[in-house]
Amino acid sequence: MQSWDRRQSIVSLIGALSVFVIVFITIKHLQFSLWLLLPTLIVSGLFYCLNMRRYLLRRRWVKAPFPEKQRAILLKFVPFYRNLAEKERTRFENSVTIFLRENKITGIGTALDEETRVLVAASAVMLIFGRPEWEYPRLPEILIYPRSFDEEYEFSPERGDRVLAGMVVPQNGIVISRQDLLSAFRSSGDSYHVGLHEFAHALDLTDGVAEGIPAYVRAPKVKEWYELIRQELQNVREGRSVLNRYAGKNQAELFAVAVEHFFQRPDELKQYHPRLYDALASFLNQYPTGYVS
Ligand SMILES: [Zn+2]
Repeated sequence: MQSWDRRQSIVSLIGALSVFVIVFITIKHLQFSLWLLLPTLIVSGLFYCLNMRRYLLRRRWVKAPFPEKQRAILLKFVPFYRNLAEKERTRFENSVTIFLRENKITGIGTALDEETRVLVAASAVMLIFGRPEWEYPRLPEILIYPRSFDEEYEFSPERGDRVLAGMVVPQNGIVISRQDLLSAFRSSGDSYHVGLHEFAHALDLTDGVAEGIPAYVRAPKVKEWYELIRQELQNVREGRSVLNRYAGKNQAELFAVAVEHFFQRPDELKQYHPRLYDALASFLNQYPTGYVS
């Protein structure tokens, strides 16, 4: 998530210049008045602005001072942010601003407070912080439930119902339990983190398919990833893994749970599953072992 895309800016500029040059040559050739260049200039400018609209907006948003209240929340609850150097903290804050501006977060049965909004954004930003050029696919509305819920989205599950803290329903919504999100940030050391888990699913869904292989895994690595995910899935199912047993459900859950563990207990993941740790570290371009919580 970056506030400016230099490559896209250059491409848009070349496009705008090409429009201008083509019209200029046509005017000369047909011997029309050179005054026609003025509206052409305006059209070329509009072409550039429309192409760069997203980044022009982002640049304007991040120019405003980052709210102190949001900074205090990050400092209090997000060790990942606390461990960043000052310049990187600014980049993190910019990404939080962009995320909050571009995504709709709604409280369902609960008032949406600033702490929850910022921690939702922080979860999403942490995951792709090592890859500034990455973007999530267009995310559906993020729905904050007060606490865990069942598969019927009821807050008071019957005995025996499967209790959920979060869920991604492609095109319809990302549901996150506020209580579970706050406890994920408050209890460092626990491998469980609903925010990271649900955004790992969102990243996995960039290509529209949840199979534990996000679209950003590029061609020569895809086969290697399939083998690794399949092997780790087998390990979980046979009780030979430090990952939560829920990872054994399928490849998508394996990926999401592995991402949680990677950020929450990186040393343990590196020690017991070095191949999985290395694959995630190089994919996310982040090396969290040894950071202080
Ligand atoms: Zn899941």
